[in-house]
Amino acid sequence: MAETEAKSADQASVEMIEKAAAEGVETVFDRALKMKPCPIGAEGSCCKNCGMGPCRVQAPRKEGAVRPTGVCGATAETISARNFARMVAGGAAAHGDHARGVAELFLATAKGEVSDFEIKDEQKLYQLAMDFGVEIGNRDLKDIAIDVGEIAMAEFGRQEGEILFAKRAPLKRQELWRETGTMPRGIDREVVEIMHRTHIGVDQDYKSILKAAARCSLSDGWGGSMISTELQDIMFGDPVPVAGQINLGVLKEDHVNIIVHGHEPLLPEMLVVAAQDPEMRKYAESKGAKGINLAGMCCSANEILMRHGIPVAGNFLQQELAIITGAVEAMTVDVQCEMQSLVNVARCYHTKLITTDPRAHIEGAMHIEFEEHEALNIAKRILREAIDNFPNRRAQVQIPSQSIDTVVGFSHETINYLLGGLYRASYRPLNDNIINGRIRGIAGVVGCNNARTLHDDAHLKMILELIGNDVIVLTTGCSAMAAGKYGLLTPEAAHKYAGEGLASVCEAVGIPPVLHMGSCVDNSRILMAATAVVKDGGLGDDISDLPAAGAAPEWMSEKAISIGQYFVASGVYTVFGVTWPTLGSDEVTRELFEGFDEIFKGRWDFEQDPVKAAGKMIEHIDKKRKALGIDKKRERVLYDMAKRRELEAA
Ligand code: SF4
Ligand code: SF4
Repeated sequence: MAETEAKSADQASVEMIEKAAAEGVETVFDRALKMKPCPIGAEGSCCKNCGMGPCRVQAPRKEGAVRPTGVCGATAETISARNFARMVAGGAAAHGDHARGVAELFLATAKGEVSDFEIKDEQKLYQLAMDFGVEIGNRDLKDIAIDVGEIAMAEFGRQEGEILFAKRAPLKRQELWRETGTMPRGIDREVVEIMHRTHIGVDQDYKSILKAAARCSLSDGWGGSMISTELQDIMFGDPVPVAGQINLGVLKEDHVNIIVHGHEPLLPEMLVVAAQDPEMRKYAESKGAKGINLAGMCCSANEILMRHGIPVAGNFLQQELAIITGAVEAMTVDVQCEMQSLVNVARCYHTKLITTDPRAHIEGAMHIEFEEHEALNIAKRILREAIDNFPNRRAQVQIPSQSIDTVVGFSHETINYLLGGLYRASYRPLNDNIINGRIRGIAGVVGCNNARTLHDDAHLKMILELIGNDVIVLTTGCSAMAAGKYGLLTPEAAHKYAGEGLASVCEAVGIPPVLHMGSCVDNSRILMAATAVVKDGGLGDDISDLPAAGAAPEWMSEKAISIGQYFVASGVYTVFGVTWPTLGSDEVTRELFEGFDEIFKGRWDFEQDPVKAAGKMIEHIDKKRKALGIDKKRERVLYDMAKRRELEAA
């Protein structure tokens, strides 16, 4: 019991980890115990970029010692910077490729080549058309959409110049990017360039490699990811606050349970439609089920929760645990963050694991490829597979009771509207409340779970510390789900957990102190929100002037490194937990933690203790308040676990 409790802060997960142990099913938590990380790789000191390696090049810790190099002469700094840059490129590529799929579907929808999708948010389409310089006039909506789609597609491969969304950033930031040579071109070009630069014998100056990695990450945040968010909103609707339920307790014993896992909202959107079809429901009843229960996992979950209120079964480390309930008839997976072990776990139960994307096959899984021209039919086929599987349940079904209410769907447009009201939608009230000190600052807490640390715990401790000190939190990805499972995504959480100032604002407006802004690609919404705050005035003229900070306390994905790097290159102080991938080189770490502050007025930091990390974020926020002349002497409230338990008992 003690051992399982030490693996997750979430009781539903603990219950399923125990069930897995009792049933002899291996999970990610077991494998993390068995497989120790390679210490040389963990600190970024291993290069395997050519056939003369791999070379283990650990910088000596003693002054004056001979500095080792790789066979080609590469120094520890070069190797560390190369590895870091390749992580950025990997993350940016994942976001960019996701976005390209969305853009292709958008264009096909605009051209009328697919019938199951439509343009739902015309206002956002017009806004995007203006940003892209597309003529609106009296033109047909369809023609405008085609132009927008074609420009979006061309943006990925933009060879020269500046990506169009860079113009959305504060002017001062744009100038900084131009001056430092980090204004991004298209994401495809930037990713390819990083892979070239980090090839043997190309760029061998760590500062130059790290700067190129910044440019690459910006092509993700202000390019790939932003394109994806915008086009998804236009096709599926701009998220507005919607109530939902979260955690494994959303599964229903007497229903056909289908989990959509992954990152792309295209198939999940169709499954939502198909699951409502009376014929499908009847078919489920014919197999003895009371209905069809669709639930999400990881960022696919965030997408459909935000737009339809479809319940969320859990975040990254809960994907195996959902199957272990014995109640999941089918799990569909598209791309990103799907563990290969799912196929083995599914084999222990009756669950059908269905891969749906041509880029992501898993040996042993069923493959039903999503094809946009046949979207609804394919969704129905998947549902039928799940329904047919309902009578095959064989293990003991045990669904944890935990599920909790959330309010999600805070696009930056929604924040604008909620704070300002219908006739004066604006960030003014937020800015005013930051200036008068009711809100101390803004924090973006985002990112993954990591099996090397207690599941969800760092997210919760960090967020509680921040809101307890009047810092409003914007959250996405698995962090958002961790917050949701603890009840932090409800307006009531303000009264319960937030400091007096933040609570008074949240209560006046009726918002939670932690705002769920979406999936991993939706971190671009945080960039837009930060820019909107700058543009509203009174808090400086660049993102780096804001009393704001970012964090990913349980990161694990290369995407998180790309996100962190574009936060930093956009002027945000950003702190990561768990592990830091350049610890093998003091110079590289110093450049990211200090040198970048001089270049980008934003910098990286690393702190494993989430409460200490939150303290560093608050310190940074206070420093920025002082620079803006809006500081008032105030104490930091230590919002530790003991206080949290006290509150729970109250
Ligand atoms: S590129 Fe250089 S350091 Fe890297 S593996 Fe090849 S020889 Fe070793
Ligand atoms: S936050 Fe991280 S773990 Fe979660 S879905 Fe996104 S990339 Fe995957």
